[in-house]
Amino acid sequence: MEEDLKVFMSKTISDLENNIHYKEDLKYIKIKLVDILNKYNKKISKLNEEINNLRKEVNHNTKIDISCPYCNKKIWIENNVNVNEVTCPKCFNLIEIGWKY
Ligand SMILES: [Zn+2]
Repeated sequence: MEEDLKVFMSKTISDLENNIHYKEDLKYIKIKLVDILNKYNKKISKLNEEINNLRKEVNHNTKIDISCPYCNKKIWIENNVNVNEVTCPKCFNLIEIGWKY
């Protein structure tokens, strides 16, 4: 749980304890609060998961792999049409990149 949310919750609970004098009511309210928190936490972790997936997708799309026509080494290059050539790190030949779009 996030720190400011924790502080907020403990403040809220002590406030409730000071102002609600029927123990049964207090218990019920606490149960409801925990329920709300759990839903909130689930939503947050689901959002985090989606963000991570998007990040992976973006990383995947920014790099592509080609094979050196001279030595066949796999080389990762930026997915950028402005990059027209790359030097093979293995055989040091200059490879021209022909973008198909
Ligand atoms: Zn090569």
